[in-house]
Amino acid sequence: TEACLKAIDGAGPLNAFVHHTPEIATEQARAADARVKAGDAPALCGIPLGIKDLFCTKGVPSQAASRILQGFRPEYESTVTSQLFDAGAVMLGKLNMDEFAMGSSNETSTYGDVVNPWRAGNDETKLTPGGSSGGSAAAVAADLCLGATGTDTGGSIRQPAAFTGITGIKPTYGRCSRWGIVAFASSLDQAGPMAKDVRDAAILLQAMCGHDPKDSTSADLPVPDFESMLTGDIKGKVIGIPREYRMDGMPDEIEALWSEGRKMLQDAGAELRDISLPHTKYALPAYYVIAPAEASSNLARYDGVRYGHRATLSQGDGITEMYEKTRAEGFGDEVKRRVMIGTYVLSAGFYDAYYNRARKVRTLIKRDFETVFAEGIDAILTPATPSSAFALGQEQADPVQMYLNDVFTVTVNLAGLPGIAVPAGLDRKGLPLGLQLIGRPWEEGDLLNTAYALE
Ligand code: GLN
Repeated sequence: TEACLKAIDGAGPLNAFVHHTPEIATEQARAADARVKAGDAPALCGIPLGIKDLFCTKGVPSQAASRILQGFRPEYESTVTSQLFDAGAVMLGKLNMDEFAMGSSNETSTYGDVVNPWRAGNDETKLTPGGSSGGSAAAVAADLCLGATGTDTGGSIRQPAAFTGITGIKPTYGRCSRWGIVAFASSLDQAGPMAKDVRDAAILLQAMCGHDPKDSTSADLPVPDFESMLTGDIKGKVIGIPREYRMDGMPDEIEALWSEGRKMLQDAGAELRDISLPHTKYALPAYYVIAPAEASSNLARYDGVRYGHRATLSQGDGITEMYEKTRAEGFGDEVKRRVMIGTYVLSAGFYDAYYNRARKVRTLIKRDFETVFAEGIDAILTPATPSSAFALGQEQADPVQMYLNDVFTVTVNLAGLPGIAVPAGLDRKGLPLGLQLIGRPWEEGDLLNTAYALE
């Protein structure tokens, strides 16, 4: 813990941590020492972690990287973080992210950009760590903490993991409680760990999962011992290679990486099978209807009355002006864009044309996966991202270009499946690239083990 706190102090320019909690960390680390001495050390005893700012942490600023939550200190602890602390983990502080987890580059944060600790050779251009869990990814990659929490609505654990050369898993929807995590798109949001390798991810996920009566979508299922499932034995497993993920204009390096991954799995005894997920091409548009729709309704609660920021009002302003001014000042451009898109697609005249249609597409995407799993596919291998980390500022001006980053990850959220990104090599510029494995629902253990074979 001391070493991490020191490293964080020296890593200001990365802008990964937005709130430091050294007092809490020291207290938790002392308690961990005492538990070790008493011979009662739980799995994460004394392990220093960073916590994404989307998680409510009791008495500690929790702003979802938004100005509208300025000054908000929750009265409660999220289920996931409280489970981590029960397992002995230590909180070093809160991690930067895209505002309300909306973004793929960590550039929408009210705290400013996070800088990827990686550089392309001698080129000093600052790169994005990806988003929205950009602070989590940069902090783990730069050794500021041993692991971090992330959340993934459309790729926000897996894409930043791939951009920074670390491992991140989004479990099956319902595996981790969403209670106490600031809601973005409730039917897609899931928490998960971001870690240095598959084993660490398995240990962290173990502590984060489990049924929680406070989240009605949390699954009441036993949580297997994920770490003990890491045998590296994947003989006889059938890995699907979906042809729709071979996109036009995909860089040959990504194609080469994917083929390398196929070979590694085959060498480890898995059987490869070409599969088709025919509705893949509709996933991105469906996601960018459904996620904003849910966001627009979730974000209605930020009204200047209940949480954080309230605009200074003028003489004669009524409650409408308070809402308008507070929301105009409190939300950044990307959040406003999502609220507008979401409100539009949910409005009476357009509901059927956009929102309902997107929901139907979502069902078809889910069925694509169900069909291949029913045909005996155990896991699906794809690239994690269509490129390596890009320069900060490069894609900010064009939201659609930014959304295209999520092309390989959003299907997994729409179908509620577990997905993991593992580092799989470097590109020509010397930047990390990741591969994604998609698993059957509730089979995170098997998925982690397949990912382990790729390490
Ligand atoms: N980049 C996607 C978005 O902006 C995903 C974000 C996420 O998973 N939280 O919506």
